[in-house]
Formats: sequence, structure tokens, C-alpha cells
Amino acid sequence: LWQYLQEKFRETLSKVSYDTWIDSAAPIRLTETNIIIEVPSSLHKDYWQNNLATRVVEGIYEFSGREISPIFMIKNEEMPALSQDSPKKDGKIPFKQAQLNTKYTFDTFVIGKGNQMAHAAALVVAEEPGTIYNPLFFYGGVGLGKTHLMHAIGHQMLQLRPNAKVKYVSSETFANDFINSIQNRTQEQFRNEYRSVDLLLVDDIQFFADKEGTQEEFFHTFNALYDERKQIVLTSDRLPNEIPKLQERLVSRFAWGLSVDITPPDLETRIAILRNKANSERLEIPDDTLSYIAGQIDSNIRELEGALVRVQAFSAIQGKDITTSLAADALKSILPTDKPKALSIYTIQQTVAKFYHLTIEELKGKKRTKGIVVPRQIAMFLSRELTDSSLPKIGTEFGGKDHTTVLHAYDKISKTIGKDVTLKQEIDTIKETLKNM
Ligand code: ADP
Ligand code: MG
Repeated sequence: LWQYLQEKFRETLSKVSYDTWIDSAAPIRLTETNIIIEVPSSLHKDYWQNNLATRVVEGIYEFSGREISPIFMIKNEEMPALSQDSPKKDGKIPFKQAQLNTKYTFDTFVIGKGNQMAHAAALVVAEEPGTIYNPLFFYGGVGLGKTHLMHAIGHQMLQLRPNAKVKYVSSETFANDFINSIQNRTQEQFRNEYRSVDLLLVDDIQFFADKEGTQEEFFHTFNALYDERKQIVLTSDRLPNEIPKLQERLVSRFAWGLSVDITPPDLETRIAILRNKANSERLEIPDDTLSYIAGQIDSNIRELEGALVRVQAFSAIQGKDITTSLAADALKSILPTDKPKALSIYTIQQTVAKFYHLTIEELKGKKRTKGIVVPRQIAMFLSRELTDSSLPKIGTEFGGKDHTTVLHAYDKISKTIGKDVTLKQEIDTIKETLKNM
């Protein structure tokens, strides 16, 4: 069996990948339900879990027709407990291993101000799928835990109902599957696949923008599932009605359920996340160092985790314990220098106003003449690009405007820059001025 799997990997992976990941792994036990694979480090374990686990399940299924899930064990660590799950009887590959990231569970999700609503809704949906919040829609910036929560719903539902069919896809995967089904004339299979699930998780649907055919198909998928009271969970970086070129009928359907935003974590939550992470990686990090790292990285959780990995690597390479000064050293080169922290929205407003010969009051006001609207949008655009301020905060600084107005301004200017050379030059000049301040 192991040879068979090795062959499969040899065919599909590059030599370097094969040598790095496969060669160093060894099967150590095969049971009714599990295969235990020994790998040399936690890095290997992550890689196997995230990239190869599905293929192991598939490979074993091809080889023996049996449903066996892999458990990865780091060399010289204790033997993990074997999975209690009873094997499925319907002969299908379990979805659990196939699509969900094992790390993204409710257990590993730290609850804070910015995500508690989303977390609560996710729990409800996992326990009462298809009944209360359907669809459930999470929106918010990158790295704030949308994907994590989605997977957690999937895990939890499978825990409660092991025979449920759960499908997680990115919106791109959905689009690709759909397009392939047309090319290969397998549309019926595509529909069977997507319309027979109990829980459909579609991530980052902002990428449906501009894809007419895919939206059409998704509309039908949505209806089929909704009518059967199957649960649908969606995420996006913004609200449905702010996604450009998303069909109105989809926008209105998405509003049938519950939309919850996830906002950036406050300092306490960031510290709690770091502490959790450090514990699970068995890292010894003093409290003041955790606070230091959390204080430096306030953008999103993915970057926070990246910072921790960096500090960890730094300590390993230098052979020193993790301290605040070591952390400061490790993070020196990644802390934002191009985003001048001191730059305030007010400074941006002043500079833009001056450039266009307007007063700050005009810039922040409500007048909608063209000579004012564009500079106002530029100032909002720059405020978003050059400061860490959230959309609502920027809206507030512009005389109490809604965050959607800011987002609209941002999108508008981002798009126009690509087409309008003069405007781009003006903005570059303003940026240059700001940089020299
Ligand atoms: P998004 O989908 O919103 O871009 P992800 O779900 O991919 O964000 O989260 C980015 C990383 O941060 C992941 O590794 C995830 O596990 C972690 N993360 C996000 N939110 C939390 C949280 N509340 N507690 C613990 N880890 C989190
Ligand atoms: Mg995501």
C-alpha cells in the first residue's frame, strides 16, 4: 500500500517536493480506520495535513476500497489517540478529510469583540443547519477568521451528524468545476455533486463578480439547496450589495439569512490568540513578549501568526530563548515602514485639500459638485491606503459618512487610476508630498 501511495505522489509531485515531504515519511501502523504516518517535524505534519491528506484517503480507497484516514505523527512524539469515528458505510470518501482543514475548529478559535457575533451564529448553524440563519454570510477583511469559522461549522456538523455531506469550496473552485463540467459535458454530475450536500460552504464569493455564467449556476444551486432546507454559508470581503457586478437576485437571496461582519481583533484578543498559538506549538514565550508582538501587529490574524513563526524561527536559528528584545529583532524587517504610522487622516485631508485648492470643510462636507467629489474620493482612497484606519473610522473623519461611501470611493479611485493617467499623476504627486512630511 505504501509503495502504491509513493508511486502516486511520485507521479504528481516535483522531485524536490517528493524528496522533501514523501521520502522523509514512513507508515508505522495500519488499522481498520486509520493509517499512522510518521513525519520528521511539525512543518511536515502541517504540509501533509493541508496538502497530501486528501490524496492519501483517495489513494487508499483506490487501492483497497477502504476508507482509512491518515493520522500524522511527529517522530519521537507520543502515539496519537486513534480516531473514534465509525467508518462510513455508504462507500464514499469521507468529506472530513477531503475538504476541511483539521486545524480550523471551534476549539482553536479565540472569541473576541470583533468576531463574537460571527462565532455565535456559526455555532447555531452547525447545530441547527438549514433552519435559522440560511444563508449565513460572513464578511470582513482578509486574515480575520472567515475561512476558519466556515471550516469550524463543517467540523462541528460532522461531529454531530457523521453522515452529513459537507462541501467546502472557494468561489474559484466552484467556478472552475462549473466551467469544466461544461467542457467535459458532465453538467449533470456537477449538479448532483453540489445539490446533494447538507452543508455548502463557499468562500470568498467576491470573486463571483464578472462571472455571469457561474452566477447563474450558483443561483440555481442556491435555490435547490435552500428549497431542501440545506444550510448554505458564504463569505466575502464585503457585503453582497457592495460586490460589483453581483446579480441583484443573488444579492437579495443572500439577504434572506443573516449577514455578520468580522472586524479586526483588539489588543486583548490578539494576545489571547498568540498565547493559544504559542501553547499549541509548545513555545515558551513570556507574557510581555506576547503583548509586545500583539501590540506591533494589529492588521490581521494571519500576519500575527506569521510574526510568531518568524520569532520562533529567529530563536531557533540563534539558539536563544524568546524574549521581547529577540522578538523586536526578528520583527524589525517586517514591521511596516512603507505605511507611515504617524500619517493621520487629517494630514491626508489637509494635503489633498491644498492640492485641489479646497478647504477642509469642503472636502469633508456633503457638496456633490465634481470639483469636490473627486478630491474627496481621493482623500478617502489615500486614507484607506496609507493609514491603518478602518472604513467606518474613515467615514467618521469625513463628516460622518457611511463606511460604504468610503468603500465606494476607494473602489472608484482604484479603478480610475488604471485608466486615467492624469489622475494617477495627481495622486502620485500627493503621495510624494505625504511621504516627505
Ligand atoms: P480570512 O478567511 O478571513 O481571510 P482565515 O480564516 O484564513 O481568515 O484566518 C487567517 C488565520 O488566522 C488562520 O490561520 C486562522 O486559523 C487564524 N485565525 C483567525 N481568526 C482566529 C481566531 N479568532 N482565533 C484563532 N485563530 C484565528
Ligand atoms: Mg479566507
